[in-house]
Amino acid sequence: MCLDMLRHKKKVLLLLLMMATGSIVYYLYTLKLERERDANISSTTSRLEREISELQAVFESEVIPDLGALGRPARGNWSDAELEAIGRSQRETGYNAWLSKRISAERTLYDMRHRSCKKLEYSLEKLPSVSVVITYHNEDASVLLRTLSSLRNRTPVLLLREIILVDDGSSSVDQKLNDFLQIKFLNMVRQHRIATQVGLMQARVVGAELALADVLVFLDSHVEVTKGWLEPLLEPILKNNRTCTTPIIDTIDYENFGYRRGKPSRGFFNWQFNYIQLPLLKEEAVAMPAPHKNPIMNGGLFAIGRQWFSELGGYDKGLKIWGGEQFELSLKLWLCGGQILEVPCSRVGHLYRDGKFQVRYTDKEKTKESRMISRNYRRVAEVWLDEFKDKVFANMPHLTVIPVGNLAEQRELKKRLHCKPFSWFLQNLASDFLNLYPILDPAEYASGVLQSLSSPKLCLDLNESRNDRPKLSPCSSDHIFPKPEQHWTLSNHRELRSGTYCLEVRNQGKDVYKFHCHGQSGNQFWSFDSKTRQVISGQMLDFRHCLEAQPKKNLVTSSVCDPKNNNQQWKFGYQNSQRLRHFWDNIKTQ
Ligand code: UDP
Ligand code: MN
Repeated sequence: MCLDMLRHKKKVLLLLLMMATGSIVYYLYTLKLERERDANISSTTSRLEREISELQAVFESEVIPDLGALGRPARGNWSDAELEAIGRSQRETGYNAWLSKRISAERTLYDMRHRSCKKLEYSLEKLPSVSVVITYHNEDASVLLRTLSSLRNRTPVLLLREIILVDDGSSSVDQKLNDFLQIKFLNMVRQHRIATQVGLMQARVVGAELALADVLVFLDSHVEVTKGWLEPLLEPILKNNRTCTTPIIDTIDYENFGYRRGKPSRGFFNWQFNYIQLPLLKEEAVAMPAPHKNPIMNGGLFAIGRQWFSELGGYDKGLKIWGGEQFELSLKLWLCGGQILEVPCSRVGHLYRDGKFQVRYTDKEKTKESRMISRNYRRVAEVWLDEFKDKVFANMPHLTVIPVGNLAEQRELKKRLHCKPFSWFLQNLASDFLNLYPILDPAEYASGVLQSLSSPKLCLDLNESRNDRPKLSPCSSDHIFPKPEQHWTLSNHRELRSGTYCLEVRNQGKDVYKFHCHGQSGNQFWSFDSKTRQVISGQMLDFRHCLEAQPKKNLVTSSVCDPKNNNQQWKFGYQNSQRLRHFWDNIKTQ
C-alpha cells in the first residue's frame, strides 16, 4: 500500500514535471512567434512608411510653401530653363502644369461669397449626402490632386459620402498616382478605370451607376471648390427633387493659377450652338444672391438627384467624347418637368485652358473629333429643337450631312416623359434671348467688300490659306456681291464676319486675326464710323482701335485711331445708313 502510494507519488511528480517543461517550452515558443510577428509588423510598417514618403516625394516635394496661397496668382523669378519648361507644359496641356506642381494641393482660397451667403445656416442632418463624380482623361496629376484636396478640405464630412473618380481611358495608368490617392484619401475616393475612352458623357453615366448617395455632383477634374460651396446647392434639391443646381463658376487662370471672380449669369446657346451667357433679368439681379433660373448649364459642374438623373436616362447614349451634352441635358431637364437653378452663394473655380490651345481628346486625327462634335450637335437639334433645328442648320449646313445614328430611344423617352416642345422653352426662359438672337435675322449694318481708301485697288481678304491672319488682295469687280473671301458683313451682332469666321483683335488690340465667330462680342466687336470711315474694334470707349491697311505688305493691323490716317479709311460695298444711325442704341460704351 505504502509502496504503491510512493510509486504513485513518483508518477504524479513526473507528470507535473512534464507539464511544467511543456508549459515552459510552449511559452518560449509563443514568445518566439510573437517576436517574429512584431519584427514582421515593424518591417511592414517601415515598408509602408517608406512607400508613403516615396509617393509624397513624387507628388509633393516640389511644392513651394505659400505659392498661390489665398488663390493669388503664383509668380516667381523663374530661370530661363524654368521658363522653357513652363512653355513646354503649356503647349502640351493648355495650362501651366509645371507651375501647378509647385502650388500646394491644399492651398487656401479667399472667401469671395456675397456677405449674406456667409450668414446662412444649414442643418446638415436634413441635407442629403452626395456622391461627387469626376471623370478625367489625361489630366495632370497635380491639378487632379488639388481638385480632390479642395473637396476634402471644404466639404462637411457629413455630406460627402464618396468621390467617384473615373479614369476615362487615359493613355497610361499612373499606378503611383492611384496608390497615392488611396493613401491620401483612404475610403473617400473610389477609383474606377474604363480601359478604352468612352467620352465624358458615358464616363459620367458609369460613375453615376456606381454612386450610392441620393444626390450626384458632377465636377470636371480641374476645379477648386470654395468654402460653403455644397450646402446651398443641396437646399433647392431638397425642396424640389426635380431641380438641378449649378454654382457660379469662377476662373482659375491657366498661366498663374490666380483665382478670379466669375459673374452670375444665365446660360444659353446661340443659333450656332455656342454656349453664351446672358445677363440676369432685372428682378433676378435685385434678388441676388437668391437662386435664379439657369436655362442652359455650363456643363462641367452641377448637382442633381440620382433618381431624377436616372429617370432622364442620364445623357443620350449616342453622344460621343464631348460637346453638346450640356445642351442635351439642360433641354431635357426643363422640357420634361424639371428646372435648373444657378445658386450664387455656391462658388467653384474652373481651370479654363488657353483659348488658343486645341484639346485633342481622341488619338485619331482631329477631323474625327470634330465630326463627333458635329454629330452630337445634330442629335441634340433633331431630338429637342423641333422646327427650330432649321435655324441651327442654316448656320451650320454641314450638320445636315453628318450621319446622326439612331434616335429612336431619345424620341421614345421624350414621349414617355411627356416633354414639352422647344417653343415652350423659348417663351418661358428666353424673352431677352430672342431680342439678341432673333429667329429672323434683321438686315446687316453693312456688307460686301471692305475697300481700303488709301489703296482703292485693295480689299480685305479672309486669306483662305492656312494663315490665321486676314490680308489685302485686289478687289473683286463686284463690290456688293464679291467673291466669298472678300465678302464681309458688319453683322447684327456687331461682328466683322465672313462665313463662319470673324475678325478679332489680340495683344491689347494691336493684332488682327481671323477666328471662328464666338458670338460673345469682346474681342470680336466691330463698328463703322460713317463720318471718319474708320472700322473700329472694341465696344468700350477706352479700348478702341482702328483697322489699318498696310498696303506695302498686303496686311492689316490695328492701331490707335487717327482720323487723319488715310490707311484707316475704308468703304463697304453696301452700307445700310438707316441701321448704322442706330448702331449704338442700348449698347454700353463705358
Ligand atoms: N473628359 C473625359 N473623357 C473625354 C473627354 C473629357 O472624361 O473623352 C473629362 C475631362 O478630363 C474633364 C471633363 O471631362 O474633366 C470635361 O472636359 P473639358 O474640361 O475638356 O471640357 P471644358 O471644361 O473645356 O468644356
Ligand atoms: Mn473643364
